[in-house]
Amino acid sequence: MNKFFTIIIIVFSFIPVISCSGKSNNKSGSAAVGISTEKERLVERVKELSLGLPEDIRLGIIGDIDRFLEQLKPVLNLPEEIILQADKSHSLGADYTPEDLVNPGDYTGLSVSRNNLSLREIIISDLQRMSGDAWNEGLILLISSTYRSFDYQDRLFKWNVEQNGLETAERESARPGTSQHQLGTAIDFGSITDEYAFTPAGKWLLENGWRYGFTLSYPDGYEWLTGYRYECWHFRYITPSGAKLQKEYFGDIQHYMISFLNTNREELEKLLKAD
Ligand SMILES: [Zn+2]
Repeated sequence: MNKFFTIIIIVFSFIPVISCSGKSNNKSGSAAVGISTEKERLVERVKELSLGLPEDIRLGIIGDIDRFLEQLKPVLNLPEEIILQADKSHSLGADYTPEDLVNPGDYTGLSVSRNNLSLREIIISDLQRMSGDAWNEGLILLISSTYRSFDYQDRLFKWNVEQNGLETAERESARPGTSQHQLGTAIDFGSITDEYAFTPAGKWLLENGWRYGFTLSYPDGYEWLTGYRYECWHFRYITPSGAKLQKEYFGDIQHYMISFLNTNREELEKLLKAD
């Protein structure tokens, strides 16, 4: 009898081993391993690409990689100039002129400070939607400064240096070629002064502008990053999907997102195709 029980125990103790080994060798098991390896590679690469970003922003992207990539796709499909980098280290050059400039004063529902302003036509419908919704809340979003050509920016910067000295001019005014205003998608609203932040319109824009694709380019406390002091009046249009991506994955700091996308654009496009 003892021998019989020993055999039974030996037989039963083998069953789970056979079962496990059988399961791990089937076809669906291999495919799952393959997918996870591919995914791991993608995550590893995005981890490397995001090395220059602050740790909390990096972890937010990596920890939610599927959704991040899903939201990144439409932003990379936008016309390139929408997220083109124009800052102290990235010049657009003297020849950059948008082709679809229009006068916002010609469009219903837009309030302009003068009649010779220019903006890219692609931003008009979202701008009208934003101005209309603000108007319904009793607010006027006054468009005060818009597209500036390379030559105009050159004169403006020189004038600023004459008026305020080089150090102040560098903090408040862009050298020609490096201004977002040359893109035709940046707008200075209202009084173009620090007080605008405390007006109902300034507060509304800061809170709601992103829903229509407009985000603050030079936020408070980031002069070390953007090169410019806080400009509560200066917004750049990056489309609603771009603004959502900025808000959810880049700490709502435009500079982080624009810089990340421009530095890694080609590789991100390849990764997304392979995904
Ligand atoms: Zn501006």
